[in-house]
Amino acid sequence: MVQAVVGANWGDEGKGKITDMLAEKADIIVRFQGGANAGHTIVNDYGKFALHTLPSGVFYDHTTSIIGNGVALNIPILFKEIKSITDQGVPAPKILVSDRAQIVMPYHILFDQYEEERLGGKSFGSTKSGIAPFYSDKYAKIGFQVSELFDEELLKEKIERVLVTKNIILENLYKKPAIDAGELFETMMEYKKMVEPYVCDVSAFLWDAIKEGKNILLEGQLGSLKDPDHGIYPMVTSSSTLAAYGAIGAGIPPYEIKKIVTVVKAYSSAVGAGAFVSEIFGDEADELRRRGGDGGEYGATTGRPRRMGWFDCVATKYGCRIQGTTDVAFTVLDVLGYLDEIPVCVGYEIDGEVTTDFPTTYRLEKAKPVLKTLPGWKCDIRGIKKYEDLPENCRKYIEFVEKEIGFPITMVSNGPKRSDIIYRNA
Ligand code: GDP
Repeated sequence: MVQAVVGANWGDEGKGKITDMLAEKADIIVRFQGGANAGHTIVNDYGKFALHTLPSGVFYDHTTSIIGNGVALNIPILFKEIKSITDQGVPAPKILVSDRAQIVMPYHILFDQYEEERLGGKSFGSTKSGIAPFYSDKYAKIGFQVSELFDEELLKEKIERVLVTKNIILENLYKKPAIDAGELFETMMEYKKMVEPYVCDVSAFLWDAIKEGKNILLEGQLGSLKDPDHGIYPMVTSSSTLAAYGAIGAGIPPYEIKKIVTVVKAYSSAVGAGAFVSEIFGDEADELRRRGGDGGEYGATTGRPRRMGWFDCVATKYGCRIQGTTDVAFTVLDVLGYLDEIPVCVGYEIDGEVTTDFPTTYRLEKAKPVLKTLPGWKCDIRGIKKYEDLPENCRKYIEFVEKEIGFPITMVSNGPKRSDIIYRNA
């Protein structure tokens, strides 16, 4: 059976923890989109890890971890990550990399930095990992697939061809030094050595695995609102964050995705620019940021403080719908235990009218939150294993959110560890 684990919000919902937890019963975990621009934080018996490229299941010895064709593959980062986990005592993971995955080229990272510099204050808040230039080149059909590393003559010729335009832009638009084709070719040969042991036809591998009845997890990055089509364009990421794209980015039939576990965080956080209707500021935000997640709400890749907000029913209802949610995993609920009262955003007021439908970006910019306040539960809920044992106000909060978003909350996460989970039949 194939299940997807995806986010309903702006990312950082705790997908890593949920994937890591579900991976216990999985045979294969696939990353199907995105690159090393976002990260997952995972806490387990080996320690605490920030993964950017490897799927969250690498900590089990029974799973195969796959980098699908939809991923923006930064080869040196992948290898640094493999080393960092084996250095901390985790057994060497079984890893496969799609021969159709495309490579983040060194110049993609440069172009990302130079473009942010050029845009100055009007930048999109890129993490400068080369992701936007990478996907632009992929769709402009001048990207490099992993398979292309294995034909040196063709590779040399293509590098020279692609560098003609890259160097014109580097020298004229950004006033930076041109790239040498020979040096780039040598770098690619190093990449080839690093990736060679792992390369395979992933879609064929998965086809066989599905036929054999294997359990497969598709692990998404970021969340619905960062999807280039359905999110808050243009403040989005460059590849689809939706479960539907899992079929494409892994290379499997769409009808095989039977379960879509959408991860929803009990409050809101976001990174980068863009409208964020339920955002809070000042001391109120600082306190939630400091208490949030596991050790504060700071970017796993960048260390940037995240923007904070109350739970947003409008954005989450939409985020769950667009994912095709079958199950909601409601995470980081334990963090809210300090609040006397918990505001929740239940509607958007736009031009004097209240709506619960998530609007397109230009209307979203005008939206003001309509808040409803629920009573807090004022205690630590970590360690609780049964839904009935949660404080009444905590259950009311969950049930209120469930009703507003219209999708069943079947898992409640009350701590960062694998075992901090309460299953529930909604
Ligand atoms: P992802 O990108 O969606 O995987 O999310 P991140 O890893 O960026 O952020 C989630 C953070 O919250 C991590 O630090 C997790 O360890 C932590 N986390 C996940 N679930 C819970 C939870 O239920 N409670 C608490 N306190 N922390 C959690």
